[in-house]
Amino acid sequence: KEIVPRENNVAKIRVVVRKRPLNKKELSRREDDVVTVYDNALTVHEPKLKVDLTAYVEKHEFCFDAVLGEDVSNDEVYRGTVEPIIPTIFQRTKATCFAYGQTGSGKTFTMKPLPIRAAEDLLRLLHQTVYRNQRFKLWLSYFEIYGGKLFDLLCDRKKLCMREDGRQQVCIVGLQEFEVRDVQIVKDYIERGNGARSTGSTGANEESSRSHAILQLVVKKHSEKKDMRQNTDGNEAKNGKVVGKISFIDLAGSERGADTTDNDRQTRIEGAEINKSLLALKECIRALDNDKLHIPFRGSKLTEVLRDSFVGNSKTGKKSFKKWKCEEGSITKLTTSST
Ligand code: ADP
Ligand code: MG
Repeated sequence: KEIVPRENNVAKIRVVVRKRPLNKKELSRREDDVVTVYDNALTVHEPKLKVDLTAYVEKHEFCFDAVLGEDVSNDEVYRGTVEPIIPTIFQRTKATCFAYGQTGSGKTFTMKPLPIRAAEDLLRLLHQTVYRNQRFKLWLSYFEIYGGKLFDLLCDRKKLCMREDGRQQVCIVGLQEFEVRDVQIVKDYIERGNGARSTGSTGANEESSRSHAILQLVVKKHSEKKDMRQNTDGNEAKNGKVVGKISFIDLAGSERGADTTDNDRQTRIEGAEINKSLLALKECIRALDNDKLHIPFRGSKLTEVLRDSFVGNSKTGKKSFKKWKCEEGSITKLTTSST
């Protein structure tokens, strides 16, 4: 189905739900498909008992800005979510796109192609006549938040620290930035970064579900004078002035916090940390929703990192919140079940 972007670009927070098809295991167990998608809503029903498929089951309806069924391609996801934001990056927008859901729900599958397509479009705009003479450059960085700490995924998992400058800009000290000249570079760096993500004892999916991975594409404006200077200190990215940026966040699995079957101490600590950061994210979004002046960024590293994407010229804020609220029940459930 065609995804129609909102008619205006001012929608600040948009919540889009994607349904993934049942996987082989679920199919082989003949599991009931409990999610039905229609328009911008979905219903979830209790699994039907195999003995009586006609029995009445309770249904719960949720609506969102958009709901994408299992037939929707990754490219359509891009066009319906990230694409409309891209031109605004050149107008000082700081946007964030994150995937939230349980391990195995399709976060990585959904997120991975998005920065590649975004870089393609950003580069195309960068080369357009209006911007060609402005000395804009596109930079990429990729880091991870694991156990409340920051690690550079493109620089041997170097530990990073964060500070804020006087203008509420988040600055991650030591984070390596790489210039993006073509899309292949983005693909290569994603592979490289994914290979560096924290490893646990179990399978690959388990590993990546313990941390938040943040890939940032930043458009910077470089002045001629400063570029001359970079010849001496060799750090060109630092000399550019941030025009706009977009962060792609593959969040840790949302089930972590509620997972009480983990006896392993390390896993429990990870779970507590993840739960804390997802809760902090929710609190920030709620504060924005209620037009609160105080946004509790300091609740976690994740929200601190996103600080400049929540304020000022960022694509977060009030509009289209009602629909997000429909989802609140499930989020609240997630957080209470862990306490
Ligand atoms: P997560 O990152 O949320 O733990 P993954 O993205 O790794 O989950 O997805 C789990 C599995 O489901 C993967 O094998 C992935 O290829 C598959 N999958 C997820 N979403 C879809 C989809 N929309 N269509 C087809 N396969 C999908
Ligand atoms: Mg994943």
